Amino acid sequence: MAGIANMGIGMTSAGTRQRLVRRLADKGIRDPRVLEAIAQVPRHRFVDEAISSRAYEDSALPIGRGQTISQPYVVALMTEAILADGRPGKVLEIGTGSGYQAAVLAGVADQVFTTERIGELLRTARQRFHELGMHNIYTRHVDGLGGWPSQAPFDAIVVTAGGRIPEVLYEQLADGGILVGPEEHHGGQHLIRVVRTGDDYQRESLGAVSFVPLLEGLE
Ligand code: SAH
Repeated sequence: MAGIANMGIGMTSAGTRQRLVRRLADKGIRDPRVLEAIAQVPRHRFVDEAISSRAYEDSALPIGRGQTISQPYVVALMTEAILADGRPGKVLEIGTGSGYQAAVLAGVADQVFTTERIGELLRTARQRFHELGMHNIYTRHVDGLGGWPSQAPFDAIVVTAGGRIPEVLYEQLADGGILVGPEEHHGGQHLIRVVRTGDDYQRESLGAVSFVPLLEGLE
């Protein structure tokens, strides 16, 4: 019994997480705030216990209901993409899923507002935030395509499902705010980063990605 328990600790310990951090740094993630947040969040708590031994591999994993927890590299890349000078105040996430990306964002921003259309996934994520004492994450069971108007404007918006990013999300960006998310084009997805300056929106592509689809309505 002791042996099995120790093995579990070995696979999910801070040391294992530190190896993931080094791998992400090798892949080009530079911002120390992002690497620190990844080092702090226990990703094994955001997946089913049966696959928790794989939590610190740099890969997406199933979380049920046909959805996935994003690959750590992609989580780090998106988090880095929304950081400019200074700490963001309010960040909006579309697609809570496991809650992992929200937990990483909560390490680099003051407040995280996250929306999920599948009630069952959101309940599990809320439980995790509660158990881990993450009190700066606010959740809503809504179709995130409408954003979160009562909390707008946001310093950053992170979309974690792929599709056509609705205009209303851009409108909920603060001046100087940054949106990052996978946009669908001719059957392929590209991670885009858009910086708002007044009524001007500067966009760039951060490369090809593969996310689950952005869907309408609640489940
Ligand atoms: N950020 C998540 C990634 C989960 S996968 C994580 O770190 O685990 C993307 C999630 O987006 C799925 O849970 C899916 O149900 C959700 N989603 C898809 N379309 C949505 C919409 N319109 N509004 C809110 N959530 C949506």
